[in-house]
Amino acid sequence: MTATELVIALTKGRILRETLPLFESAGIRPLEDIEKSRKLLFDTNVDGVKLLLMRGSDVPTYVRFGSADIGVAGKDLILENGSDGFYEPLDLKIATCKMMTAEPVDAPVAVDRLRVATKFTNIAKRFYAERGQQIELIKLNGALELAPSLGLADAIVDIVDTGKTLKANGLVAKDTIADISSRVIVNKASMKIKNAMILDVLAKLRDAVTSVEA
Ligand code: AMP
Repeated sequence: MTATELVIALTKGRILRETLPLFESAGIRPLEDIEKSRKLLFDTNVDGVKLLLMRGSDVPTYVRFGSADIGVAGKDLILENGSDGFYEPLDLKIATCKMMTAEPVDAPVAVDRLRVATKFTNIAKRFYAERGQQIELIKLNGALELAPSLGLADAIVDIVDTGKTLKANGLVAKDTIADISSRVIVNKASMKIKNAMILDVLAKLRDAVTSVEA
């Protein structure tokens, strides 16, 4: 990575379809069809600007260590894994959803020590600690919604968009822990070394977000 090169890490999949148009409005376009290719590194129409494709959970790691200068990462991952080594200067307002607690429709009113199943253990720990509620955390990587009906947990902490997944599994959303969307993150050292270049991209992305909102 040289001082005239800018590496931008993007999340593969559904979120990419919302991310690319914003970069396109900001004047950054991959030179080939990024969604059809199996490549992970793409040149763009802007000299020295490259796009990297990866799993969302790896974006903050690449940016933290400076292998990417800029990244687009879900706020859920930032809250869960911390923001050491990077700034979070811009909310792209895409992939919006909520981090929520959810319980079975017929949950008892109060449980002494709530068993909470989640992938987001740090977020859950902080949320319940702030309320002074004792919990037992059960870390799961998927199929969270099954945990209450199978007796594994009293509640879950998960991402809710339309609420259909909860409903289909006999759960109701209770408390909103955080509003989630994709954020632009910038490596702290890159921000110093490539300041003008990065501020230019940020300003253009900010305009792109504003014009979508208008
Ligand atoms: P829904 O049934 O529409 O409430 O969607 C809930 C599920 O979709 C969750 O369990 C998430 O895994 C996933 N999901 C929805 N929106 C997002 C998002 N913006 N980022 C990551 N996962 C999401």
